[in-house]
Amino acid sequence: MVQVLRTVHEFRVACEKAHASGLGFVPTMGALHEGHLALVTEAKRHAPIVAASIFVNPTQFGPNEDLARYPRDLDGDLSKLEAVGADILFAPSTDEMYATGEQTRVAVPRVAAPLCGRFRLGHFEGVATVVTKLFAITGPCTAVFGRKDYQQLAVIKRLVVDLCLPVQVIGFPTVRDLDGLAKSSRNLYLSPDERACALAIPNALAEAQAAFATGERAAATTLARARSRIEAVTDRIDYVDIVDADSLEPLVGNQIDHRALMAIACHVGKTRLIDNVVLGEDARIAVAEAK
Ligand code: AMP
Repeated sequence: MVQVLRTVHEFRVACEKAHASGLGFVPTMGALHEGHLALVTEAKRHAPIVAASIFVNPTQFGPNEDLARYPRDLDGDLSKLEAVGADILFAPSTDEMYATGEQTRVAVPRVAAPLCGRFRLGHFEGVATVVTKLFAITGPCTAVFGRKDYQQLAVIKRLVVDLCLPVQVIGFPTVRDLDGLAKSSRNLYLSPDERACALAIPNALAEAQAAFATGERAAATTLARARSRIEAVTDRIDYVDIVDADSLEPLVGNQIDHRALMAIACHVGKTRLIDNVVLGEDARIAVAEAK
């Protein structure tokens, strides 16, 4: 049985008990899918007791974003967590996580600046703040995050080092549907037609992987091809970019010679989708043709 805990105090006590054997931790915003569940399974490989959290964190949403309509299904999530053998679910209210008068924020400015940081002002500060608070409650643990949110993972790795937190951070590969689309809670917003259009994203990444495998190293060429694929079917592109996979800074001389991250964020209808690959490193995306 998953133990469901609602208060910071209860969760802290449960984590303290788990420390002797080892605690795995998977923070989420719920509406769980196979991507989230794979993180729980990965956490179980590292620690005998695994906690997940579900908290739709208001400080990481901008004023015109989807906080109010973000999908919520606590009962469904609980049975999925049972099925993969999670031990603890921490599902606090907003008031429980943010005390009256709260004002402290955690910023990781350089890692948060490019890519999504240019379009979601304050987003990574909200993420860094809530994750730091969660780690302050869990104490020592192995925390598993998805590489689907690559920049978020980079922000968290940085803050854990900078704040000397006793947390081992593990990045887990992106889990995809059979046609290549990255699993995401926001896929629930897509109509069947929009979902078909969204396949342009993994298709563009797969094309870049294939070009890289055959020796293409000019970022501009790879980006232009990806952009035209995405432009054809999406409503608005936030970015299609290739950056250094460690620093997230621009490539030197436009050449893909180091580990390079290719990342895409675009809007399909009202839904903002993101995806990425590390060229030459991530498994090749198996894709179906977009309509
Ligand atoms: P979210 O609920 O969207 O905040 O995501 C919670 C965690 O699940 C984050 O570490 C995400 O990176 C991870 N995640 C979301 N989608 C996927 C996916 N398709 N594959 C792997 N991890 C994912």
